[in-house]
Amino acid sequence: MSSYTTINPHTGQSEYSVQLMDGAAVEQRLAAAAAAFPEWSSRPLEQRAAVLRRAGEVLKRRREELQRTMTAEMGKLRVEALAEIDKCAQACAYYAEHAAGFLAPQTIQTEALRSYVRYEAMGCVLAVMPWNFPIWQVFRFLAPGLMAGNVALLKHASNVPRCADAIKSVLDEAGLPVGVFDILHIDNDQAAEVLRDPRVVAVTLTGSERAGRSIAANAGDQLKKSVMELGGSDAFVVLEDADLDKTVAAAVKSRFDNAGQTCIAAKRFIVVEAVADVFVEKFVSAARERVPGDPQREDSTLAPMARADLRDELHKQVQASVAKGAKVLIGGEPVAGTHAAYAATILDAVVPGMPAYEQELFGPVAAILRVKDEAEAVRVANDTTYGLGGSVWTADPDRGERVAQQLQCGAAFVNAIVKSDVRLPFGGTKRSGFGRELGSHGIHEFTNIKTVVVA
Ligand code: NAP
Repeated sequence: MSSYTTINPHTGQSEYSVQLMDGAAVEQRLAAAAAAFPEWSSRPLEQRAAVLRRAGEVLKRRREELQRTMTAEMGKLRVEALAEIDKCAQACAYYAEHAAGFLAPQTIQTEALRSYVRYEAMGCVLAVMPWNFPIWQVFRFLAPGLMAGNVALLKHASNVPRCADAIKSVLDEAGLPVGVFDILHIDNDQAAEVLRDPRVVAVTLTGSERAGRSIAANAGDQLKKSVMELGGSDAFVVLEDADLDKTVAAAVKSRFDNAGQTCIAAKRFIVVEAVADVFVEKFVSAARERVPGDPQREDSTLAPMARADLRDELHKQVQASVAKGAKVLIGGEPVAGTHAAYAATILDAVVPGMPAYEQELFGPVAAILRVKDEAEAVRVANDTTYGLGGSVWTADPDRGERVAQQLQCGAAFVNAIVKSDVRLPFGGTKRSGFGRELGSHGIHEFTNIKTVVVA
């Protein structure tokens, strides 16, 4: 493939095309990144913060244009795209303000005259990013990363090159110096080459388990630091004392926003028997309100999926689950008349051995897993190779907290939808990856945590 052409997921029309870069173009960007690093990393933090604050302002000013770009390229609903851009602006402002605190040297008392830890920039980080939050995923890494003094090259998903170019133009407009951040329109083999280049010191990936295995292996082979933000199959545990109306509203939002294409979306709804019938009935009725339509229109409530091949993959997982006994309560079919939409779907009677139980369903399909009681709910919630997030719904916050503490995952929420927050660390366990983004833990990932001892 020598170029990427993106297809509008609603209309099926081609939207944008870019040529893949050749070796010389990649070399020029690697050299520019290496040249930019010494100056950028030694700039006073306040000057780096000023650029980031301006980037936040540019994002706010250009939010309508950025929204249209995202919606046309990967199908996000207008309202969801606007919220995504606002969150990016918030991340810029937050790290501009708080990075100095996170990066301040930490004194540790020893018998020496002085002993402390410094957080030093590492160099050029390769960022390999997905299409599902095509602007947020980049800023989630970039805002803290730039404040830490690193420079970065972005290899974005092949279906969102225009979003990648838009991010670059926002940062250019904010006055980011040449070479501090650039885009590589390259394929995955070229990305592997870039990671082998000695001028690249680390890699961060947000993407699938499959990509994680390949990129983490390559980074390991090069003994380079990596952070892996991979897939998930989050449990949504409904206990018998939950407020079912509020719980169902959260279930619908968590499962069907962004057409279900969110790593921390609730995917497995683990419901105790005592309330399962009522929960399911209310869930089905609320899910019927999610109607697919033109994502640019304010009255559409379910986005199309980002690509037709992803929609077809999801449909195969649904069909294979049904062949093994899962019951379709609603949906279960691609939506006619659009390029890549899939109907809001709820599968009941999901049990081990089905794709809906064992795999990530990266689209608008909810799996209902009925359990006897709280103890079984915890066991089933942890019966997965993933470990990204999980939520518990109960009238008793203390009980919820006790259950949340037993979930094997990177983020457990009680009576709230799992979501990322610019202030809190984010990341997974098990095959959902390793390392953290955001918060002080995230900003430290791509720093040299240097011990200094003065005797
Ligand atoms: P993907 O196919 O893994 O793609 C993600 C990125 O990795 C893209 O830029 C892709 O490039 C690249 N890539 C894929 N295979 C690669 C390889 N062998 N070597 C180098 N780069 C490679 O994932 P996706 O379908 O875009 O995203 C969905 C997945 O991401 C889901 O599993 C979701 O749960 C996960 N995700 C995780 C988080 C998190 O924070 N944990 C957040 C969002 C999404 P091409 O497009 O060119 O193939």
